Amino acid sequence: MLPKIEDYEQFVGKEVIEKIKDLAVKLEDKHVVNVNSTYSGGGVAEILNSMVVLMNRLGIKTDWRLLKGTHSFFDVTKKFHNGLQGEKVSFTEKDKRIYLDELERNSLMHHFREHDLVFIHDPQPLGLIKFNVRKKQPWIWRGHLEINHANKKVWSFLKDFAKQYDGAVFSMKKYLKRDLHIPQIIVPPSIDPLSMKNKKISNSFAKKLISKEGISLNKPIITQVSRFDKWKNPLGVIQIFKKVRAKIDAQLVLMGDMASDDPEGPKIYSKVVKQAEKMKDVHIITNKDDLLVNALQSESHVVIQNSKREGFGLVVTEALWKGTPVVATKAGGIPLQVIPKKTGALIDNSTEASDWCVKLIKNDKLRERMGINAREHIRKNFLITRQLYDNLHIIDTYTTSVADDVIKAARELKRMLIR
Ligand code: UDP
Repeated sequence: MLPKIEDYEQFVGKEVIEKIKDLAVKLEDKHVVNVNSTYSGGGVAEILNSMVVLMNRLGIKTDWRLLKGTHSFFDVTKKFHNGLQGEKVSFTEKDKRIYLDELERNSLMHHFREHDLVFIHDPQPLGLIKFNVRKKQPWIWRGHLEINHANKKVWSFLKDFAKQYDGAVFSMKKYLKRDLHIPQIIVPPSIDPLSMKNKKISNSFAKKLISKEGISLNKPIITQVSRFDKWKNPLGVIQIFKKVRAKIDAQLVLMGDMASDDPEGPKIYSKVVKQAEKMKDVHIITNKDDLLVNALQSESHVVIQNSKREGFGLVVTEALWKGTPVVATKAGGIPLQVIPKKTGALIDNSTEASDWCVKLIKNDKLRERMGINAREHIRKNFLITRQLYDNLHIIDTYTTSVADDVIKAARELKRMLIR
């Protein structure tokens, strides 16, 4: 059964739910649309999966459209992705042509006439605005990447599109762009505590799922769940694990699926497999399986997130929510979530990482204490109800005119008088 908004009361209380419902009533005649480039793989798809359903259940018509793209289009947009995260990429006139041609084709397939607001996610569909010059509604660019180190050439190309938007939303303050002269709003991402990936499952069921993958239940488990992407640094995780193994017996699980809009995945994956083959007790899992992610994040002694860049890091949120301490780098949004010595450890190198893994594996009490703090930190700050309210607030700000408010108030008054 799909969850309803009232089902979230158990996590955030009645007042929060009432606030969401009140705002949703005000927006019930609105129609919004989200555009991104994949239905699965990565945090954006993860959030939309829950958000779009919840918004529709609240009575706000919310569509989710996908960008259609060729391999060469996604090769170019991965260059944008890498460039925005600070890599020096070779980016040619031909690349620009490929990007714009594909977006022009897409703009002929998607019409936004009836929508009150358009949310465009990440760089892949960003340039669509160029082909919607007579747009009828506000357009918001929702950036999810760690863009504060952006490569100048890539950003200057993309900024020409971004500046045509009516607003931009980023996950944290340091991503706001000084040279982008449009309103910019901060909305951190969130997880859905009732999704398959995050709902409470029993220990025995979790253990059953894990052992089906050939993972022993008698040795501590260290896990990283992430797409096979160089920014997630899975090869570095293997190095950390080597150092852990020099001190204690443990197993490493690297779970990662491939996103259809990420052409680099298979290359990174085969490098990881080559390294892992040289070692004992490294398990690599590529199944797309939300329950298995849930089980691993719940049952691992430690979850690692060894990212070099990280927009926010929903995998960190997910693990903390399950009461599992996280040992992670300081990339992007991770320090908003991992509070040193409270919910996990922030590390600068592989030695610090392995030392923390060993310490946590050996100390049940420490793990338990951090786990309690971790779940509470996520409950307070990073559950979907908070992001849902923020989104409704943006829709309200951008689409409700004073005239709308007056009409609504008059209707409400009439309703009260009839009663
Ligand atoms: N994910 C998954 N299976 C995998 C790898 C990742 O379901 O094998 C999910 C993960 O649970 C999380 C999302 O993909 O919900 C990744 O989001 P995050 O913000 O951590 O990173 P992104 O991939 O967006 O850079």
